[in-house]
Amino acid sequence: MSREAVDNFEEDGDVNSVKVASKINISERQRQTLIEVVDDIAGEEVRKVTLVLLNADQETTDEEISEKLDMRLNQVRKSLYKLYDLQLATFRRIRDKSTGWFVYFWTLHPERIDVFVDRKQHEVMEKLQERLTYEEENMFFTCNNPECPRVTFQEAMDNNFECEHCAGRLESFDNEQLKQVLGEKITEMKEIRDKTRKIMNGEK
Ligand SMILES: [Zn+2]
Repeated sequence: MSREAVDNFEEDGDVNSVKVASKINISERQRQTLIEVVDDIAGEEVRKVTLVLLNADQETTDEEISEKLDMRLNQVRKSLYKLYDLQLATFRRIRDKSTGWFVYFWTLHPERIDVFVDRKQHEVMEKLQERLTYEEENMFFTCNNPECPRVTFQEAMDNNFECEHCAGRLESFDNEQLKQVLGEKITEMKEIRDKTRKIMNGEK
């Protein structure tokens, strides 16, 4: 059975004889990225759990990880579900015939880090684009008090051009500089994305 076919598959069986090999070849670059990303967004404990899975050559249960790391089972499970949410790990559960309990067999998918990074970069780009469009499509007003928020033309009109917070007079706000900064960030992000894709495709 292929690894894809057994993703989150459920079956009854003898839990001691059903482990599937889970070694996936990844590049050193992918390995580094995976560890950095996991550490960065999920923290130290998830990184430790990731390393155990990364070094395993077959599926691993939460109890095995707990023993290996001397980490509380609850903490291990939390970490595993975090990896699952990030789509970097999958599990298969088997009902142990002798105890009736479910046993979870976890597999890491380190190769998915490329898709993950690409998706994250795409999200950042989209947010920047949305923000730029918002800046381009609106006129803004401010009372020039740094503690008060900027308002749109519509909001300013609704309040007779008086600040809701300090009652100061609202004047037009020039967002040219902000738009320029956003434009630069978008260009920069595009370049990072192109570069990342080239590295992922094995180009230099
Ligand atoms: Zn104000």
